[in-house]
Amino acid sequence: MQHQLKKLLKQYFGYDQFRPTQEDVINRTLSGKDSLVIMPTGGGKSLCYQLPALAKEGTALVISPLIALMEDQVQALLANGVSAAALNSNTTANEIRAIEHELSNQTLKLLYVSPERALQSNFISFINQQKISLVAIDEAHCVSIWGNDFRPEYMHLPALMKYFDDTPFIALTATADKATQREIMEKLKLRDAELFLSSFERKNLTTTVLPANKRIDYITDYVKSRKDECGIIYCLSRKSTEKVAQALIKEGIDAAYYHADISASERQQIQKSFQQDDIKVICATIAFGMGIDKSNIRYVIHHNLPKNLESYYQEIGRAGRDGLPSECILFFSYGDGQILQKFIEESQAEEVFKNVQRAKLSRMLEFGSATSCRTNFILSYFGEHRTENCGHCDNCLHPPRSFDGTVIAQKALSAVVRMKQQVGTNMLVDVLRGSNRKDIQELGYNQIKTFGAGSDISRDTWLSFISQLINQGFLELDFTDGNKLKVTEIGKMVLFNGHKVKLSQVQLFTGKSAPKKSKKMMFEEGLIGSLRKLRKEIADAEGVPAYVVFNDQTLQEMAAEKPLYLSQMAQISGIGKHKLNKYGEIFIKKIQEETLGGSTPKNIKGKTYLETLKLIQAGKSVSEISILRKLNEITIYSHIAYLFEKEEISNIEIYIEKGKCIEIGKAWEDLNKTDNLKVLFDHFKRKYEYYQLRLGVSWWKKEMGE
Ligand code: ADP
Ligand code: ZN
Repeated sequence: MQHQLKKLLKQYFGYDQFRPTQEDVINRTLSGKDSLVIMPTGGGKSLCYQLPALAKEGTALVISPLIALMEDQVQALLANGVSAAALNSNTTANEIRAIEHELSNQTLKLLYVSPERALQSNFISFINQQKISLVAIDEAHCVSIWGNDFRPEYMHLPALMKYFDDTPFIALTATADKATQREIMEKLKLRDAELFLSSFERKNLTTTVLPANKRIDYITDYVKSRKDECGIIYCLSRKSTEKVAQALIKEGIDAAYYHADISASERQQIQKSFQQDDIKVICATIAFGMGIDKSNIRYVIHHNLPKNLESYYQEIGRAGRDGLPSECILFFSYGDGQILQKFIEESQAEEVFKNVQRAKLSRMLEFGSATSCRTNFILSYFGEHRTENCGHCDNCLHPPRSFDGTVIAQKALSAVVRMKQQVGTNMLVDVLRGSNRKDIQELGYNQIKTFGAGSDISRDTWLSFISQLINQGFLELDFTDGNKLKVTEIGKMVLFNGHKVKLSQVQLFTGKSAPKKSKKMMFEEGLIGSLRKLRKEIADAEGVPAYVVFNDQTLQEMAAEKPLYLSQMAQISGIGKHKLNKYGEIFIKKIQEETLGGSTPKNIKGKTYLETLKLIQAGKSVSEISILRKLNEITIYSHIAYLFEKEEISNIEIYIEKGKCIEIGKAWEDLNKTDNLKVLFDHFKRKYEYYQLRLGVSWWKKEMGE
């Protein structure tokens, strides 16, 4: 059975291995039992029900709350040669008839249905007569009345169960916390369901926090250096989405802004263009995201601070769903914290609710100024505790060094006092750095003792130190007084009682110090660019998003492996039978074209055979090729044998007669299929030359289907 499942995995999805939990969930579903699967975004939930659907007779019903998600999944399945369909409010009467037809013929493996549909009595009575292999409930947290995604219809889903007594149910979600897990179990009335809980760590995401100054400059540089890649930039206000987008557009980047004031049809258009890679960057308020199932989002930037860690984790979760390395950058500022605080204070919500919001915001601020592993900070926030560090956040990658920062703290605190606690962070930094800002002179701040006392420290570093001072409680931002800095009681102890302060030297990551690229890397980058272009052309012609053709991971592996023959292409992860047949040739042709060019790296697997092949195709004889390629004839014949085995050459009888091949082949069988041609050579007492033996064995193997 396991062998059979792996075969299906390779055949349809082109993968060699299951991820750890997948196999367990699949086995449980195949044994007819219920499961609740909690896995982070990108963890591979879909396969947990898609594979049993393929392994079992009948059709799997997948309840899915969003039309866009449903249609993406169906497209991806069809592209892999799996028959699947979606039934929702967009489905036309004709399409419904076709689906019903396929269902009764048992040719449909998966049917995605909206919960409203699934609960309609005519649907139930129709489906009741069909063979249903399993019922999957995607985004199962929609049953939770506490979450943002509550769907009342989800509460009625247990009603379905009585029609499907012995059909396994599998509920899936990426929502972590214990309360939601319990609620799903109870509300969906799963029967003795096993809980499969994966770690929430997203190993392919690097998280970096940067001080929030010169954000737009940084963002434009960053995006320009990744102009072929897609990303999302989240902003707090509609205005800033427009500002950032315009700055990017000015630099020639395909960017768009997205917020609640844009008409629904325009929003839909933007989503679609993003999905198709026509728009590379979306600058959006949080309104953007639900319903986005794009797998190749390579970065998520927060131009502003999110209101809590739940939102932050959900938003960065949209990056790297295909498992490839992706970056998350958060611009951190206390000013944003103050704005968010104001939203809370001004809202009409009840005090208990506001208290929760305040607590969540302060955890978000702590996260922004944390000097230890950020991943662990988030995981522990969601109830997953561990001691080892992640190794993929800024604090793990560039550990901050802590040192005695008392003198630095005193400079800052003293400046605040001397400016009568009437300045905000930016002014403080400028005064410490001795800036010649006009208002500094007007206000006489250039006369105070600490003016310019910190000119040896960069602006970014000062911003980081000041947030550390706020975070450690020596300074306070006065929300009631225009965000001005105030020295706290313990701050006074630093100034007057010599209280020690520890600061961390945060190594600011600028993203600009990229290592020098080798020739091979440059070549592969060029190749991936061409492959991407080809993928886009195909995707546009078929009207599907580019990643439905091949995802980024597959494309990268292709550029690294440079398959020149179909048999090599079949080894690439993510290429199942269907895609191999459909796109294999055309991608190989592109790779061949590029690798046969002048400046290609050496050691490309099979390249030498390809060069021989091209000459054969140009009508050259073996001896001519041998001269042209400066290789001896025996080598050329061994190429021919290889190419014949790889089915690049269909006929070798022009090089050796069939009768001879049969004679050699039979002898080879008698000699226990020896790998050692010398044995065969001696057996024939030099009647055949080595090259003939090699060709003869190849011919025989092929005839015998080995
Ligand atoms: P989720 O629904 O949990 O967010 P998906 O089911 O969309 O995740 O899977 C995320 C990505 O991982 C997809 O690109 C998928 O093809 C890939 N994937 C899933 N399972 C495997 C596997 N066993 N081997 C390699 N890639 C996989
Ligand atoms: Zn870490």
